[in-house]
Amino acid sequence: MPIRLLDDRVIGKIAAGEVIERPASALKELVENSLDAGATTISVAIQKGGTGLIEVVDNGSGIPAAELPLALQRHATSKLTAWDDLQRIASLGFRGEALPSIAAVSDFSLRSRTVDESVGTDLDVVYGVARPPRPAAAVPGTRVTVRDLFGNVPARRKFLRQAGTETAIMVRSIAAYALARPDVAFQVTVDDRRSFATDGRGDEVAAAVAIWGTEIGPAAIALPELDESAAVPGISVAGWIALPEITRSHRNSLLFFVNGRWVQNRPLLFALEEAYHSLLMVGRHPVGVIRIALDPAMVDVNVHPTKAEVKFVDERSVARAVSRAAHRGLSEARPNEVPEVHLRDLRRGVAHSTNQPLPFRPSTGQRAWGASPLGDGTGLAPRPFEPTDRPVEGLPVPGVRAAVAAATQAEPEPDVAFNPRPVPVLRVLGQVNGTYIIAEGLDGMFMIDQHAAHERVMYERILADMQDKRIDRQPFLDPMIVELTDMQYGAFERSTAELESIGFQIEEFGPQTVAIRAMPAMMRGINIGDRLRLILDELAEGGTGESWLDAVAISAACHTSIRAGQALSLAEMRELVAQLEQTEQPRACGHGRPTMLHMSQGELERQFSRR
Ligand code: ADP
Ligand code: MG
Repeated sequence: MPIRLLDDRVIGKIAAGEVIERPASALKELVENSLDAGATTISVAIQKGGTGLIEVVDNGSGIPAAELPLALQRHATSKLTAWDDLQRIASLGFRGEALPSIAAVSDFSLRSRTVDESVGTDLDVVYGVARPPRPAAAVPGTRVTVRDLFGNVPARRKFLRQAGTETAIMVRSIAAYALARPDVAFQVTVDDRRSFATDGRGDEVAAAVAIWGTEIGPAAIALPELDESAAVPGISVAGWIALPEITRSHRNSLLFFVNGRWVQNRPLLFALEEAYHSLLMVGRHPVGVIRIALDPAMVDVNVHPTKAEVKFVDERSVARAVSRAAHRGLSEARPNEVPEVHLRDLRRGVAHSTNQPLPFRPSTGQRAWGASPLGDGTGLAPRPFEPTDRPVEGLPVPGVRAAVAAATQAEPEPDVAFNPRPVPVLRVLGQVNGTYIIAEGLDGMFMIDQHAAHERVMYERILADMQDKRIDRQPFLDPMIVELTDMQYGAFERSTAELESIGFQIEEFGPQTVAIRAMPAMMRGINIGDRLRLILDELAEGGTGESWLDAVAISAACHTSIRAGQALSLAEMRELVAQLEQTEQPRACGHGRPTMLHMSQGELERQFSRR
């Protein structure tokens, strides 16, 4: 084929693919435009996971009729004129790509009016083809209506997750902006039902309570302003974080904003978690909204088409500022409880007293066991399993020993989620802290997180029962009535079918109220009302899993399992460990956290300086 220039519609579709990955990216761009336009109220409506409808209505500056067609041209923006402007960009948008990209792949309609105009203007674009603008009766502000998103890009449609998942991602992204901008009143409806609303009065904790629930209120600590000696020059950190009692199994409730822009940046996450240090249990993550302000020239926002990532000129300083502010906030709220961020390395201590430095073995990748065997508080999963590095004497069954040795040696860096390795037969010795089961295995000692272990057992049972279509339901004589928050109710509506297929029978019972008529028999003996709320909270925040059904199963397994801190009898622990041994992937729970840690015979000997 000879070289040819692509026509505009093809170019538009290709460009749209970069900027608009999924419904949530379209929605994010629209909300950012409303904020850039100075809106103080923003209403969002979503239908059918965003492919039915995404509509954003604001009371911002509006677009003058004469400029309306321009707004839909690529690289047309009112926010930037010269390259230099990009170095100090203060608005959320600047690329002039969002509206044309969305309009290229949807049935799109824009209505806008400025305060100076007496009428508004409608502009429709159907899959990239613009119709002539028409005058329309309108209040000042802008309304963007997007229908049938990706209707002309079937390949993109195919890659979308189920409507429930896409909706959750969308709600999470508007919630993020509502949390960062408590001075703007957000109202969100999903499939014609209210999802959440903030009052726009400027109280950031009130906004968080409206979105994440009342438990946030008493737990939120405002990040204090640092005095001159502690502050990092040029970087200010504000916002709030929650006391360590309020944590999540995921990092979705920890949001970072840089100059008003919601960003994903792992070093900042880790810096913040480090400030919590040992106050967090392994696998739990803090909740909070952190607003960072710095000279726009010190950050590059143009490294990613959707502007979700940023590059800092000096990332370490930003991380330090975050960590210090959080540490100060926590220690003011809880004097004497927040330890210094340094770990005491027990191994080094031993070496000292024997005057015989132990060889540093980076291959174990582990901090001193004695210091914090269950994690270092950064939220990074500790290595769940240490491969045996030499044959172990005196094992009862040589065949098993060989198999275990082979299995453990074959895998240098185990990836817990995808490694269905058997567990050796374990002898339960006892329980620590009402949370960890200590057991002896073929090679050394095993520490099992009873909650994660039970979660794995429950999750696989739910899946197996579903596959065999032998769900054992336990009906209630009197239905249990449970009141839900808006967000919980929305999650319930999106998950009714999935909850049903894993053995629940839950019906609508009134406004924001449901009746539980039956639950899976395997969950017997727990207060399912409370647990249902926890399940729905997790689902409202997006859940984890391959599919929505999977997300529902994982969440149900997690929140109906034995909890940490629950004393178990020896018999119960043996039973749990025996059940764990039977599972297909005994080494991680449904959320991917390790169920067990292993301290090999060799490691024990090294720690006790026997070799
Ligand atoms: P960008 O935001 O990068 O400038 P967009 O394609 O998102 O590009 O928008 C193009 C232009 O349309 C903006 O620069 C702005 O002038 C105008 N615009 C878009 N949405 C709104 C809105 N909700 N209110 C006022 N003006 C808007
Ligand atoms: Mg924009």
